[in-house]
Amino acid sequence: MRNLSRNRENPEKVSKLPLIILLFVLIAFLYLFISFLSSEHKTGVMSNAVSESTADAPGNAAGTGADTAETAEGPGPDAAESGPDAEEPSSEPLTFSFVDPATLESLSQSLSSSQEEPADPAVKEFKVYFLNVGQGDSSLIICDGHTMLIDGGPSSQSDTVYSFLETRSISHLDYIVATHPDEDHIGGLAGALNYATVGKALSSVLSDDSESYLNFIKYLDKQGVKPMVPAAGDVFSLGSATVTVLGPINPGNTDNNNSLVLRVVHGNSSFLFTGDAEAEEETDILKSGMEVRSTVLKAGHHGSSSSNGIDWLKAVSPAVVVISCGANNMYGHPATDVLESLKSLNTKVYRTDLQGFLKVSEEEDGSLLYRIQKNATIDVFAPVAAPANETGAPVNDQSGGGQNADDQSGGGQITNATTINRSTPSSEESYVLNTNTMKFHRPGCPSADKIKPKNKEYVTRSREDILQQGYSPCKNCNP
Ligand SMILES: [Zn+2]
Ligand SMILES: [Zn+2]
Repeated sequence: MRNLSRNRENPEKVSKLPLIILLFVLIAFLYLFISFLSSEHKTGVMSNAVSESTADAPGNAAGTGADTAETAEGPGPDAAESGPDAEEPSSEPLTFSFVDPATLESLSQSLSSSQEEPADPAVKEFKVYFLNVGQGDSSLIICDGHTMLIDGGPSSQSDTVYSFLETRSISHLDYIVATHPDEDHIGGLAGALNYATVGKALSSVLSDDSESYLNFIKYLDKQGVKPMVPAAGDVFSLGSATVTVLGPINPGNTDNNNSLVLRVVHGNSSFLFTGDAEAEEETDILKSGMEVRSTVLKAGHHGSSSSNGIDWLKAVSPAVVVISCGANNMYGHPATDVLESLKSLNTKVYRTDLQGFLKVSEEEDGSLLYRIQKNATIDVFAPVAAPANETGAPVNDQSGGGQNADDQSGGGQITNATTINRSTPSSEESYVLNTNTMKFHRPGCPSADKIKPKNKEYVTRSREDILQQGYSPCKNCNP
């Protein structure tokens, strides 16, 4: 019996052998075919990375700059688009499951060498936010997953900037820009640097003894980023947008007139960010002959009359001017004569002091859509006398008796207010948490400044919520 059964098994094994060999040959062939596919994929990504970093390099001379950037940047998005298309969707999961770890590692390295957080080529978008940071300036540009933050308002608004980025999950900024080392522009950059990693930092100076500048450098240091001073005429790309440095033409002027002036162009739209550049720098830029014409102009120096000269406004010829300033600020910004100039030029004006933040987004047909936080119908040219504070408390009574600033956006004045959706219940406040000692502070508290970054957290929550989480109030600032 035993002998018989053995004899029966042997012929079976022999007959299966060719089948197994055939299977092996098939698997080997499949493996070769797949690794061929994956090597193609790898080359595609690498060439894309190279074209991106070329376009990123600043230093093009004025005049030729803009053209160079457009050509250098051209292959970037195209390659990114053709990448996924060229590959059959069904082969993609196979490609990655069979690629050896070394290939995957070099692939991720080639990506990370050009951009810390690769842009998703599928996300084609262009958006510009003018944040409401009280008496200060802060703008955020998003293009195809790439981001640039220009200024961060005063340090009291660090948490505004922090939560603005947090809400939108912007954990990496390709560029952070300090137009000039004044506190109302760079104080709040600390909030951004506490939340997001930074690729490149642009500054108008490499040293300044102001506390806010030293703070800015301190937070950059923690990320191992050194600031660079770009020169007028430098061009770089932000996704499919092109950024040109227009000023300062004569570095070394006083603070405001040494502001970095940037012009961002995307499709048919252009944005001009001027920091606090005053008449002197405006004149220098006009003399340089560089293109200043822009769809949207951020008014210089919070709408002050020392900036925004009529020649400048006529040359820029903006359809829209954004004035970023604090409600009832002590400087009288914006100046009445600037408002009059803008009115006479038939310019549409948005004001952060009256209308909160502004979001400008490019629609599919290339047109720009403007969304404000509140007070769509307010007369931006009329002086507003109602008392208010810089954090966005009620600025006028017409818009709904003493409601919280954010609630006003739901008051039916703005049809598309829901797209902005930044409503915060009135009981919520901004606090700084020390996750180590479990103390919480008001944003301006000196003790909060001493919290180690790894233990520091900015939140906008109700006091009750924070107490419930086990935090106790700081005895200095009594939040
Ligand atoms: Zn300023
Ligand atoms: Zn300034």
